[in-house]
Amino acid sequence: MLIHTTSEEPEMTIRPTFRPASDVPFEALRLVTGGEVIVPGDAGYEDARRLQNFTFDRRPAAIVRAASTDDVVEAVRFARQYNVAVAVRSGGHSVAGQSVADGALVIDLSAMRAVTIDSRRRRAIVQPGATSGDLAGPAHAYGLALSTGDTASVGIGGLTLGGGIGYMVRKYGLAIDNLLSAKLVTADARVVSASPAENRDLFWAIRGGGGNFGVVTELEFQLAPVGAVLGGVLVLPATREVVRGYLEYAVQAPDELTTIAEISHIPPAPFIPEDRVGELAFAVFVCYAGDPEEGERAIAPLRALAEPIAGFVDQMPYPGMFEFSEPATHPHGGAIRSGFADSFSDAEIDAAIEFGRVATSPFGMVHFRALGGAMARLPADATAFAHRERRYLVAAISLWLDPAEDPAPHRRWMEGLWERLRPATSGVYSNFLEDEGHGRVLEAYPAGAYARLAEVKRRYDPENFFRFNQNIKPAG
Ligand SMILES: Cc1cc2nc3c(=O)[nH]c(=O)nc-3n(C[C@H](O)[C@H](O)[C@H](O)COP(=O)(O)OP(=O)(O)OC[C@H]3O[C@@H](n4cnc5c(N)ncnc54)[C@H](O)[C@@H]3O)c2cc1C
Repeated sequence: MLIHTTSEEPEMTIRPTFRPASDVPFEALRLVTGGEVIVPGDAGYEDARRLQNFTFDRRPAAIVRAASTDDVVEAVRFARQYNVAVAVRSGGHSVAGQSVADGALVIDLSAMRAVTIDSRRRRAIVQPGATSGDLAGPAHAYGLALSTGDTASVGIGGLTLGGGIGYMVRKYGLAIDNLLSAKLVTADARVVSASPAENRDLFWAIRGGGGNFGVVTELEFQLAPVGAVLGGVLVLPATREVVRGYLEYAVQAPDELTTIAEISHIPPAPFIPEDRVGELAFAVFVCYAGDPEEGERAIAPLRALAEPIAGFVDQMPYPGMFEFSEPATHPHGGAIRSGFADSFSDAEIDAAIEFGRVATSPFGMVHFRALGGAMARLPADATAFAHRERRYLVAAISLWLDPAEDPAPHRRWMEGLWERLRPATSGVYSNFLEDEGHGRVLEAYPAGAYARLAEVKRRYDPENFFRFNQNIKPAG
C-alpha cells in the first residue's frame, strides 16, 4: 500500500549493517513489482549491470527495473525489510560508477522514460530514465527546449539532481533552475513531493545535492521557447592567444550565446578538410538561442580569434547540438578530473595545449565551459548547487571506445594534465566527480551548503540508506 504524505519528519528504522545477498529472497520482489527483477544467472543480467562507462564491472545482487513509482516504493520497502543496500540508476552515465554497486539491489529507472509535454503552459513532466535526447525531440516539436547537457544519452535523473549544465546555461540557467517540482520515494518508502510549496528543504537539497534524499520518480520542468538555434563548431588553431581570447570573450558574450570548448585532435567530419584530420585544435561549440543575425554578430569575435581551420555554424533544431557529442553516447571508457575556475595563467594554458598534443586517446581533451549569464543571476543559496559566480568549468577528460584497451595510460595522461590544471581551480561540479573521496564531495559544496544538506539528509535519510552517490553524511 502506498502512503502519500508531505510530512517533513520521516520515521526511520533502517539497520545500518547490510545483509549478505545470498540470504535475500529476491523472487519475493517479483510478486510485488510490475517491473522486471533480474538476478545473476538471468539472461539479461550481464547487460543490465553494465554502465555507460565500461570500466565499471560491478555485480549487484539484483536489479529491479521499476515501471512505476509504486514499484520503487516496493523496492525500497523490500530493501529495508531484508536490509539490502540499494543503488539508484537512471541513465547509467555516472562518472563515478555509483549507480551500480557490488552486492546491492539496483533500483533501475531506465524503463521509466516517459516525457509528457504541456505545450500551452510550456511544461514537461519527465520520468528520470528519460535522456536529454528523449526530452529534446518531443519538446522541439512544440518549439520548446530545456537546457540539459551536451550529450543526448545522459539521463535526466542524475543530470538534474547534480545541476545540469547545458548548451543554454547562460540564457536559461541550469536544468535545476527550470525545475518546478519533483516526486520522490524516501528512505522510509513514502512518496513525497518537493516544490516551492511542498517540502521546501527537500526541494532545495535535490537541486544539486544528488541522489542522497530519495529516489526521484518524476520531474516537472518549465521549458523555454526555443526552436532553432544558431549552432555549430568553430575549429581554431590551439594556441595560447586563441584559448585566452576565447576565455575572455565567452563569459562576456550575450547571454544567448553558450559555448563549450575543447583542446583536442580534430576528428573526421564532412566539414573538415581531410588533410587536417588528426591535427590538434581548439574546437569551440557554439549555441546561440535567439535571433540568428544577432547570433552571427555574437559569434564573430570568436571567428576573429584566428583563421579557422574549419567550421560549421548554421541554424539547426536545438536537438541538433547533440550531434557533436555522438561518440560519447556509445559505451566508452572514461576518466575525468574537473573543477571551477575564474582565470588561467599562461603556464596553465600552455600545459593544456601541450597535454592535448600528447593525448593517449583520440578523445583525450581539455574541456572548458564558459558560465555566467542566467546561471549567475540566482543567489548562491537558492539551490544546493552553489557555484553560480564561477566563470569557467574546466575538465581533463579521456574517453576511449574499445573495451580491450588498457585504461592505465589514459588515466595517467588525465591525471598528469589535471595536476597542471588543478591550481587554477577551486570547487567542483558533483556530476563530474569520479569516486574521489569525501574531501572532494566537500569541495562540491561551500561549507554552509554542505551543513544544510547534511541537515536535510538527517531528516529524510538519517541512516544513510542512499549511500551509493556523492555522499552527504547525515548531520549528527
Ligand atoms: C558522456 C557524458 C556527458 C556528460 N555531459 C554533461 C553535461 O553536458 N552537463 C552536465 O551537467 N552533466 C554532464 N554529464 C554528467 C552527468 O550529468 C552525470 O554523470 C549524471 O549523474 C548522469 O545521470 P544518469 O541518470 O545518466 O546517471 P546514473 O548513473 O543513472 O545516475 C548517477 C547517480 O545519480 C543518482 N540518481 C540517478 N537517478 C536518480 C533518481 N531517479 N533518483 C535518485 N538518485 C538518482 C544516483 O546517485 C546515481 O548514482 C555527462 C556525463 C557523461 C558520461
